[in-house]
Amino acid sequence: MGLKRCLACADAFQTSARVPTQNYCSRPECQRERRKLWQREKRHADGDYRANQLQCQRRWRESHTDYWQQYRAEHPGYVERNRRQQQVRNAMRQPGLIAKMDAIPQVSPLASGTYHLTPAEKGEIAKMDAWIVKITLLSGT
Ligand SMILES: [Zn+2]
Repeated sequence: MGLKRCLACADAFQTSARVPTQNYCSRPECQRERRKLWQREKRHADGDYRANQLQCQRRWRESHTDYWQQYRAEHPGYVERNRRQQQVRNAMRQPGLIAKMDAIPQVSPLASGTYHLTPAEKGEIAKMDAWIVKITLLSGT
């Protein structure tokens, strides 16, 4: 037991009989600092430790290479949204876009006519019979 100064916060603290070599007080942030420095020290000193860490990261990447590929395949809405956002970003980069906006003619999004109505679920087209519906546009130009 003895009085020491914490290496992180410089406050005096009482070392315990159990850990007489203690250099940090028991504050969580000082303990965090201690662990951080220990890890940094370890990475520098211990080549195996460093190699092991790198290997772990590499292994994770290798086992997850198809993660995004699979994600995109299972979330067509995500891909489509990304594609559209990219188109908007590309368009925004064009100079004089704001001025051109007014010149874009107002086009009706839907024309009157006969349509297949297919129920969709979670971005995927459900395996159900499609309805044939007739849509008549009541207003618009
Ligand atoms: Zn401290």
